[in-house]
Amino acid sequence: MLTQNHQETWSQFLEFMEERCSSTEFANWFKPIKVLDSSSDGISLEVPNIFVQEYLLDNYKKDLCSFLPLRANGDPAINFFVSEPKKPAASSTQATAPQHLPSPQAELDSARAEIKLNPFYSFHNFIEGPSNQFVKSAAFGVATRPSRSYNPLFIHGGVGLGKTHLLHAIGHHVHEHHKKLRVQCITTEAFINDLVDNLRNKSVDKMKRFYRSLDILLVDDIQFLQNRLNFEEEFCNTFESLINQNKQIVITSDKPPGQLKLSERLIARMEWGLVANVGIPDLETRVAILQHKAELKGLRIPHKVAFFIAEHIFNNVRQLEGAVNRLSAYCRLMGMDATEEVAENTLSELFQQSPLKRVSVEGILKTVATIFGVRVSDLKGSSRTKDVAFPRQVAMYLAKELINESLMKLSSAFGGKTHSTLLHAWKKVSDKAGKDETLRRQIEMARRNIEA
Ligand code: ADP
Ligand code: MG
Repeated sequence: MLTQNHQETWSQFLEFMEERCSSTEFANWFKPIKVLDSSSDGISLEVPNIFVQEYLLDNYKKDLCSFLPLRANGDPAINFFVSEPKKPAASSTQATAPQHLPSPQAELDSARAEIKLNPFYSFHNFIEGPSNQFVKSAAFGVATRPSRSYNPLFIHGGVGLGKTHLLHAIGHHVHEHHKKLRVQCITTEAFINDLVDNLRNKSVDKMKRFYRSLDILLVDDIQFLQNRLNFEEEFCNTFESLINQNKQIVITSDKPPGQLKLSERLIARMEWGLVANVGIPDLETRVAILQHKAELKGLRIPHKVAFFIAEHIFNNVRQLEGAVNRLSAYCRLMGMDATEEVAENTLSELFQQSPLKRVSVEGILKTVATIFGVRVSDLKGSSRTKDVAFPRQVAMYLAKELINESLMKLSSAFGGKTHSTLLHAWKKVSDKAGKDETLRRQIEMARRNIEA
């Protein structure tokens, strides 16, 4: 018999949660839970699967504790029961309907959460340069000879560098040249959502059959599988089942496999094939990408202007694209040509500052010691012999020039010299460098070395 107050408490808990989470979250995780029984030693809940139980405990234990009675160990007093999967014949509508299960093909053809391939993300539209040549050939190899080149192909790199573009390009190429092959391109988020939906609808087996019947699985952003333990296992099973049947898998990620917080088993599987990095394009490639994107927009950007933009936007192709879009809109609206001045005025807020390398006194001492053929310990010491004292002054000069710190702080880094010693050294070296070409060169060399 249900103890009325626990049943009520549960309803209150649900009301409380409904206000706190999104409607999808509530529908996925809370709605399917049924109260089976409630007694003085707790409440019995029926959950559709183990994921719901773990989700509740992982995310809402504190709330559950504040609503429900507690066990001696501080856990909420809940007995979970995972519901039995329903047999098709158990439903009344199906019992009267002819007993016919969908044919495997019909089932496979039913729409899944496939993401649409972006029509612009083709190999043709992918501009090659030294930073992405290798990964582009690997992707092309997989697209032309699926399952016969590298399996899996694991593509990793920073944001906006073309990982999704390459993944979709493989999808397009396979659609065009291997029409019979079944391709599924999916983001990791969509895979997880698909799994949650299928768990709720008790159709996980159908989903498994679907994924395991594919010829090519393209998975975007696998990093979102981190910390999703149960989903990871299902993904790993799908992965193994495909690979064992020699079906092609391509995965993208923002990190290499070894740096992902995933199980050793899955990491090892992902490292089986080829791991390829997509890097930051160099200046020439950025210019070529800019001009290509501008051409697609019908905007003519003179080479000099493209160079100017590419010099200022250097670590993200998506931002280069944003710059082209903005410039193109501006030029069209104002009826102006894309000159360097127009580019500067419209794009300056997108321009990136080159990250200032952190220069340390230690780094300066090392470089100066090498150039002047003395030891770092001598530079740090107090010897006043000319061979050591002058290089020490050069190091002090460079520290004042290159490090944005107070003189006080800098001088203490030189083994407790006073700030006036440092200032004196700086003045002496600047004056001398004005007259002495060799010294000027030595300083230039040191500066390049330190800042490299
Ligand atoms: P990621 O998935 O690595 O974050 P995307 O594939 O979404 O990056 O790329 C961001 C944008 O930059 C896309 O519009 C893509 O077309 C473009 N892009 C990236 N690299 C290139 C390239 N080498 N040639 C042409 N366009 C590129
Ligand atoms: Mg992407």
